[in-house]
Amino acid sequence: MSTTVETRVFNFSAGPATLPLPVLEEIQADLMSYRGTGMSVMELSHRGKTFIEIQETTIARLRELLNISDDYAVLLLQGGGRLQNVMLPMNLITGPGQSADYILTGYWGVSSSEDMPHFGRLNKAFDGSFCNYSRLPQPGELKLESQAAYVHMTSNETIHGVQFQDFPNTGSVPLIVDASSELMSRPMDISKFGGVYACAQKTSGIAGCTIVILRRDLIERGSDRVPGYLSYKKHVESADLMLNTPPTFPIYVTGLICKWLQQEIGGLENMERINREKAQIVYDVLDRHSGFYRGHADRPARSLMNAVFFTPNAQTDDLFVTEARKHLLSDLKGHRVLGGIRASIYNAMPVEGAQTLAQFMNDFAIRHG
Ligand SMILES: *Cc1c(COP(=O)(O)O)cnc(C)c1O
Repeated sequence: MSTTVETRVFNFSAGPATLPLPVLEEIQADLMSYRGTGMSVMELSHRGKTFIEIQETTIARLRELLNISDDYAVLLLQGGGRLQNVMLPMNLITGPGQSADYILTGYWGVSSSEDMPHFGRLNKAFDGSFCNYSRLPQPGELKLESQAAYVHMTSNETIHGVQFQDFPNTGSVPLIVDASSELMSRPMDISKFGGVYACAQKTSGIAGCTIVILRRDLIERGSDRVPGYLSYKKHVESADLMLNTPPTFPIYVTGLICKWLQQEIGGLENMERINREKAQIVYDVLDRHSGFYRGHADRPARSLMNAVFFTPNAQTDDLFVTEARKHLLSDLKGHRVLGGIRASIYNAMPVEGAQTLAQFMNDFAIRHG
């Protein structure tokens, strides 16, 4: 039984998303018996030596790739990005009347802010709804409060296709970043942030594992009234960083992604260079046919990860998606809140995928323009 590489498509899904072929092949090779254990990773005890080594290696690789110092805890949790929207305010808002600043740059920034008012006062430091989240705040537009427990932002808005290149200066207030759809797509200076979190299924693995990087002093200073699984303190204090059975297989896949980034890509600087090249290929063809395609994001805010654009009308959008599929270009339909087309060009999308898409976009614009 060989891999069916020939039958694979270029999958532009926003998440769960395409995985690097070498990672899939390694999973396949390991599946029946992981390194002589006679069992798959899914069947390993989470307290056994073999799995603990997988978990430790995964965390060590994350630390190396992102240059994470020991001032930060790295947790591999369940519950996705969504659960972090709850855990953050639950742990970091410690007293009545406390507030946190949220920078609302798209669907995910907004949904992060929706759970917050259960725990404290929400300050909308920026609300991009006036432009339907097509651009990012200028530094002077942020209404930050010096007493805030933290500032929350979404570094890449997966649905609206806008991405920060520079991060706001929040002074002594810790900045917490939802980097779900871009973690490890470029270097990130973690020391500038109070914390960074990401669900794995976009750029860092498969669904089921959430990477939480959080400054230890924030965890220590956190609320003591947080129940069990929701408490960061309980997680960092538990034996082997395992409060309960962690998502073992997803953690293993995240480890393989990290290994691929280190050994085949050669680190995050290289990954960023490749990602910029791919994004340029797609945005160039968009701009070349600017009478036909309309991008959602203002140019300076354009995401390197999710290119969101429209053809002249909803009928041609549908036709684009259907015809693209015949060229092995899959999952290009835009998210329901915006419509149009969305091409997610994450780490694992090969340059050839971006080129094939660009060629198709060019042909489609000529045929239907
Ligand atoms: C996908 C996504 C989430 C939600 O992740 P879940 O794992 O579905 O909870 C949160 N934030 C961003 C930026 C995302 O792209």
